[in-house]
Amino acid sequence: MSPGLPIVRLKPGRDRSLRQRHPWLFSGAIAAVEGSPASGATVEIRAADGGLLALAAWSPASQIRARAWSFAPATIDASFIATRIRRAVDARAAMLDARHGGARLVHGESDGLPGVVADRYADVVVVQLSSAGADAWRDAIVDALAEATRASAIVERSDADVRALEGLASRVGVVRGTLPEPVVFRENGIDYAVDVLGGQKTGFYLDQRDNRRIVGAHAAGRRVLNAFCYTGGFTLACLAAGAEHVVSIDSSAQAIAQAAANLARNPALDASRAQWREADVFAELRRLRDAGSSFDLIVLDPPKFAPTSQHAARAARAYKDINLWGLKLLAPGGHLATFSCSGGIDATLFQKILAGAAQDARVDASIVGRLTASADHPVALAFPEGDYLKGLLIRRS
Ligand code: SAH
Repeated sequence: MSPGLPIVRLKPGRDRSLRQRHPWLFSGAIAAVEGSPASGATVEIRAADGGLLALAAWSPASQIRARAWSFAPATIDASFIATRIRRAVDARAAMLDARHGGARLVHGESDGLPGVVADRYADVVVVQLSSAGADAWRDAIVDALAEATRASAIVERSDADVRALEGLASRVGVVRGTLPEPVVFRENGIDYAVDVLGGQKTGFYLDQRDNRRIVGAHAAGRRVLNAFCYTGGFTLACLAAGAEHVVSIDSSAQAIAQAAANLARNPALDASRAQWREADVFAELRRLRDAGSSFDLIVLDPPKFAPTSQHAARAARAYKDINLWGLKLLAPGGHLATFSCSGGIDATLFQKILAGAAQDARVDASIVGRLTASADHPVALAFPEGDYLKGLLIRRS
């Protein structure tokens, strides 16, 4: 099939997860490596009985020692990569207004491309490579994205912290075409400028697109608090939906400045209804409570407090804290949209944390909606880790 590829043999009984098409091979499952694969090179993964389980990218520096490209015999080459990219881009065709809109075009493992993320903002594509295998196929990935999208510019944002675990240096820059200045795209009828070179992640949180619409539907005539506002996604969605006013908090001065500029970019929205606060949310929620403030709609969309389950206990306390104070600030009949994007906190634990927060805040509240990432962030059934964004829409009695 692929003569000459290095072979990674598993210990007896350690083949189950690959047989279930989970793409990660952890170092502890490996009995022996035959050959000396370079970082990112393709290897054959074989069960103890010699049966082929997968063709995978070798990550010598990571605990996730290999990531599967294919569970069936295949030649892993530029054309294989291009086919996967094309399939992912085609799957978004119906969801995307390619001229103005934004969408995640490639969502890593769930699109059969471990370590590869690509987001489209109007005519610009931002690609993020975070594993040794993705990095090794960088040129093929960029070529395939250029071909499949015909974007006017492709930007690389390979600067996620996880690259260090793979032994990869960070790399940021325009890799194809010329970047328009500014990069602007439209979401739910609102224009946002995106700092694709310096913003967080690829510049914007596209995963919250549907949730901005869902939350906006509760905003008309309401007093809104948007905590962890970043560049103003939920703020502008609520203003567009007719919020009475929106107080937005973020600790990043740069994010607040970009959020205010985004508001100014949309003249149909009444900027006098927005108040921006550069502050630590943990402190500011208490301060608002001390000042006797109250809100009808609160959004809590913090950064990842628990990247893995090892951080779960500390993260759980942080989630409980902000939700407790959020619930205290919520007027009776008001709604709280609360999120966790932590891999280490699953949906069941998140719901328990909210129950504890409501109990300590002494409020009665119910779940009236469950929120998740938009459809351009698919979750492969074999890869439950892809289900990272958990949201609850809660109504205080
Ligand atoms: N809701 C946003 C995305 C939030 S990302 C959107 O829809 O686009 C998380 C944000 O939290 C980042 O902008 C980060 O700067 C901010 N942040 C992190 N820790 C914070 C803290 N302790 N207080 C205030 N903001 C914080």
